[in-house]
Amino acid sequence: MSAALEIRNVHKSFGPREVLKGVDLTIGSGGVVAVLGPSGSGKSTLLRAINHLERPDLGYVALHGELIGVEVRGERLHELPPRAVRRQRTRIGFVAQSFNLFANLTARDNVAEPLVAHRRLDRAAARERAVELLAKVGLGDRGDAYPRHLSGGQQQRVAIARALALEPDLVLFDEPTSALDPELVGEVLSVIRQLADSGATMVIVTHEIGFAREVADDVVFIDGGVIVEQGPPSQVLDNPRQTRTREFLARVL
Ligand code: ADP
Ligand code: MG
Repeated sequence: MSAALEIRNVHKSFGPREVLKGVDLTIGSGGVVAVLGPSGSGKSTLLRAINHLERPDLGYVALHGELIGVEVRGERLHELPPRAVRRQRTRIGFVAQSFNLFANLTARDNVAEPLVAHRRLDRAAARERAVELLAKVGLGDRGDAYPRHLSGGQQQRVAIARALALEPDLVLFDEPTSALDPELVGEVLSVIRQLADSGATMVIVTHEIGFAREVADDVVFIDGGVIVEQGPPSQVLDNPRQTRTREFLARVL
């Protein structure tokens, strides 16, 4: 069986600045990987490359064996046609730091939107499904609310419900709690934890070390565009081998 997610030798530069310098990472089906690292180390760029929002300069990303990045065959770079890229992207859920909900749509319609756009459900069926998804994140009774009437934690839970609407093979979280007031972090982490327990394959960029220890099968420490250290939480978080990992953990813990 192929890995759920396979990242091979991904390089990405912005102008003269090489932000990813050859990243390799494999996640099995149902695997949960927490990505830690200092600001500017390339974490978001890596997630964006996985989601095909950034095109790798070299290397590739494959989801269940199907390429979603560019492939290197000899010297030539092959890119997937735009339709295939769009199809692949519907198989990946993405939850950003800032909730990115449509302000002019209710919670229910925010969640229904991808179902209408990509599954061609009629609006009534999409809304019905959206309410089920909202119930999963504890917001079954808030479908009529507009984002501005929801707390940050509730908005982020709506964003998670929306990311799950198309039953993605992979869910990416980019610092899902860093924009939240401290008292709202717990409710969002608990929804993510539930999702991990339900067998979802996930990559979570987070500074919540305790949470990473609890939910991740593997922790990846990235610095300067390379994976410095990777392994189970008991190793990377409790007995890091690399000085850079130790120094980072000492700063954030
Ligand atoms: P992290 O998420 O670990 O904080 P990022 O992946 O966001 O780091 O960014 C890594 C580096 O790449 C930063 O120096 C950032 O300024 C730079 N960068 C990211 N995206 C772009 C872009 N679109 N254009 C130019 N530089 C970028
Ligand atoms: Mg980032």
